[in-house]
Amino acid sequence: MHAMVLERAGAPLVLREREVPAPGPGEVLIEIAACGVCRTDLHVLDGELPDPVLPLVPGHEIVGRVAALGAGVANLTLGERVGVPWLGFTCGVCPYCRSERENLCDRPLFTGYTRNGGYATHTIADARFCFPLPADGDPVALAPLLCAGLIGWRSYRKAGPGAELGIYGFGAAAHILCQVAVWQGRRVYAFTRPGDEAAQDFARRLGAAWAGGSDASPPEPLDAAIIFAPVGALVPAALAAVKKGGRVVCGGIHMSDIPRFSYSLLWEERELVSVANLTRADAREFLAVAPKAGVATATVPYPLARANEALADLREGRLQGAAVLVPGE
Ligand SMILES: [Zn+2]
Ligand SMILES: [Zn+2]
Repeated sequence: MHAMVLERAGAPLVLREREVPAPGPGEVLIEIAACGVCRTDLHVLDGELPDPVLPLVPGHEIVGRVAALGAGVANLTLGERVGVPWLGFTCGVCPYCRSERENLCDRPLFTGYTRNGGYATHTIADARFCFPLPADGDPVALAPLLCAGLIGWRSYRKAGPGAELGIYGFGAAAHILCQVAVWQGRRVYAFTRPGDEAAQDFARRLGAAWAGGSDASPPEPLDAAIIFAPVGALVPAALAAVKKGGRVVCGGIHMSDIPRFSYSLLWEERELVSVANLTRADAREFLAVAPKAGVATATVPYPLARANEALADLREGRLQGAAVLVPGE
């Protein structure tokens, strides 16, 4: 098998050849058809998240087929198409796991961070954390659903049902959730880097009612806002844009420092919350909603060996939608 491997934080990924691993009890071997590139991968590569297991194969938006079953796997069949998300394992016994909050598990493993992920031709996954996907359809189009979609969906649910929804940072997650929101009859206000006309046009094409720079005020006060961009300065901006009782949801795993802001921005029961990881229930829910909402992902495919290029394009904001790595190209 081939994999793009992170050998030390801050270094580019290197293409390595390895033995195809055999699945242990409860695990499956997956032959990968596509793996999305997520901003979290940049945080892992840059050493902004603590203690990645090195050497590491990043990637947690995996679409592939089950190529071998470990002992005791009963929920998947050989050849079945599955998706593997960020949540790679939970302990099942900690207080969070026992209260339907496995996203906060005390002893979790995360795909492409603390266990090997999908920047590869093959990977091993815990069968309980794989999700059946439709047998047909383009794997490249499905890949971004596995994180941008799933964790985006958790953020979206956390934002509540208000009609006027702001989204800060119009990348992979936003372009998916914008389609869901419009399908549900909500009005989306898309905030991009100031001057990024291309991203603003992209948002309007996907049904956003308004698109502008993150330094602008929306034409209507918002019921809620989701911040997908890893920029702490957006927190006071979003709090200023939501109405009384409004909620601001930080949807990313890492963010630059939040500048000091006046209590008046939080006053009147505005709320500021973060979203961490996902539960398997989030995944099942979103994978059922996405086809009903007619979610169509915008993707830019790259051959696996060009993963560093895909990451650089994401970092520089050169993508509309999501980068996806394709082995065997
Ligand atoms: Zn992700
Ligand atoms: Zn747990």
